Amino acid sequence: MKQPELRFVDRVVIVTGAGAGLGRAYALLFASRGASVVVNDLGGSRHGDGSSSKIADAVVNEIRKNGGKAVANYNSVLDGAKIVKTAIDAFGRIDVIVNNAGILRDKSFSKMSEIDWDLVQNVHVKGAFKITQAAWPYFIKQRYGRIIVTASNSGLYGNFGQANYSAAKMGLIGLANTLAIEGQSKNIHTNIIIPTAASRLTEDVLPPEIFEQLKPELIAPVVVWLCHEKCMENGSIIESALGWAGKCHVIRSSGSVLRPDLSSNVTPEDVEERWSAITDMSTAKHFDSIAEVTGEFLVTIDAMKSGN
Ligand code: NAD
Repeated sequence: MKQPELRFVDRVVIVTGAGAGLGRAYALLFASRGASVVVNDLGGSRHGDGSSSKIADAVVNEIRKNGGKAVANYNSVLDGAKIVKTAIDAFGRIDVIVNNAGILRDKSFSKMSEIDWDLVQNVHVKGAFKITQAAWPYFIKQRYGRIIVTASNSGLYGNFGQANYSAAKMGLIGLANTLAIEGQSKNIHTNIIIPTAASRLTEDVLPPEIFEQLKPELIAPVVVWLCHEKCMENGSIIESALGWAGKCHVIRSSGSVLRPDLSSNVTPEDVEERWSAITDMSTAKHFDSIAEVTGEFLVTIDAMKSGN
């Protein structure tokens, strides 16, 4: 059975870094589904230098030409409050934030400067913090909000030359995990997208036959669904590429008790002896919350009490 069309009537969406690549595809799809869109982009290089209003304007013009509603904003995400103000001034509310703006400053770790580190942390992590915090009071008041943060497989798995970027992308996962908890009771949902798409950030790293199949337009429907009022997903990491999507989980091994009872100590040799049991992932499982993890401590204490 065909699903009814998902619309964004009277919803206002900010997409950061929406002048190109993935952000542009998100902005166009949101607008085609009835959302009023703030197209934010400062129009710099992929390393974060320079600025131009051109690319944000081009996306706004494209949306308007197609009969949609959009305004441009040229601030850096580090001026998050100004971007939220653009949404309020133009459309009177804010419902969805897609934290998508990003830059790369790839260097092998030994050559990475503090500037390379700071610029990448700032645009990705601090930018998401600033804009999301500016929108948060509106979300709380209206008891509704949808937030996306953009992470990367470079964060989950590491990638040569991307220590700054990998750290920033994992930072965003931590941010989203906690926002998901703090927003849950107020119908504010935060999810993480891990995209792989053809863009200027990936044009020199992906083989051509894969590159041409990695259209940003194939990821946009996943982000748009996650931001719809019908979507109850919260705190999830969703990976998408090529017209495919899946969910990622952190898992932990069952581990091994390292001391026979509560009155004993643990030596490095105890750890060495049990290393294969500690790292045996055959019975690994996922935990849904920090409370669940802490709950396992009681089970471990009971095991030590009974000497098992
Ligand atoms: P892109 O370079 O095409 O688009 C990023 C946009 O962000 C650019 O238009 C840029 O001008 C804008 N931007 C940069 N700094 C900004 C700032 N301070 N304020 C406002 N706008 C700013 O790149 P893309 O591939 O579409 O990447 C989008 C997001 O997806 C990024 O966060 C990136 O790290 C992430 N990502 C992309 C891939 C991929 O395969 N393309 C993989 C993993 C993660």
